[in-house]
Amino acid sequence: MRLIDSHCHLNYEGLVERQAEVLENARDRGVQGFLNISTRQREWDAIVGVAERESDVWASIGVHPHEADAHPDLGAAALVEAADHPRVIAIGECGLDYYYDKSDRAAQRERFEAHVEAAQQTGLPLVVHTRDSEEDTAEILTRAVREKGVRGVLHCFTGSAELARTGLDLGFYVSLSGIVTFKNAQDLQEIAKWLPADQMLVETDSPFLAPVPHRGQKCEPAFVADTAAFVAELRGEPLEELAETTTANFFKLFNKAA
Ligand SMILES: [Zn+2]
Ligand SMILES: [Zn+2]
Repeated sequence: MRLIDSHCHLNYEGLVERQAEVLENARDRGVQGFLNISTRQREWDAIVGVAERESDVWASIGVHPHEADAHPDLGAAALVEAADHPRVIAIGECGLDYYYDKSDRAAQRERFEAHVEAAQQTGLPLVVHTRDSEEDTAEILTRAVREKGVRGVLHCFTGSAELARTGLDLGFYVSLSGIVTFKNAQDLQEIAKWLPADQMLVETDSPFLAPVPHRGQKCEPAFVADTAAFVAELRGEPLEELAETTTANFFKLFNKAA
């Protein structure tokens, strides 16, 4: 079985101290690729460093919406320059988070637009984080796709069926994290049942959001296998098939890794 963790934070506290072990645990469960996601400019070098050392790890370059206020001068140029590296295959994570509102909303939108611009200039797909900001996310992504030909994924999807459809119609992928395994995630489980197989990815978003049966533990990339098994069961599909499809989807979207 061949799985990919399409979104993890290997340099975050909780994983960074035992990175080698965490990668081995995942490989033992069939995880053959990891997209190590950046959230702040000061960590870009370390994120790319892991991808330089490990042949099955790739990197993204971006700034999380929580960090928008802390990066007042971030424009497309800095993103494009940092992304000009053979192991960088994506722009993000970026987007809007009006649930936590950790940064000013206008600043979040401005930084998101800079990432859209960088995605257009580099041809790399966008890794989009969106929470309680569906209208603005849909508006920005619609323009990004129609006017700039940008591609990407709605990561750790927890939105409405309407937002999922909007994203899918725009050609975006939808990525499921451990949240889908939670008891109170019925709405998301319904969406997971009908997501088109060719636009679906799986991820951990580790060290956060450990799936069932690991609730309460530090999440790590190995657990993407539990999320994949849960989703396969939900969809009435063999796990092998879901693993193959989501892995093929990963390389189709992040084609610089292929
Ligand atoms: Zn996120
Ligand atoms: Zn993340």
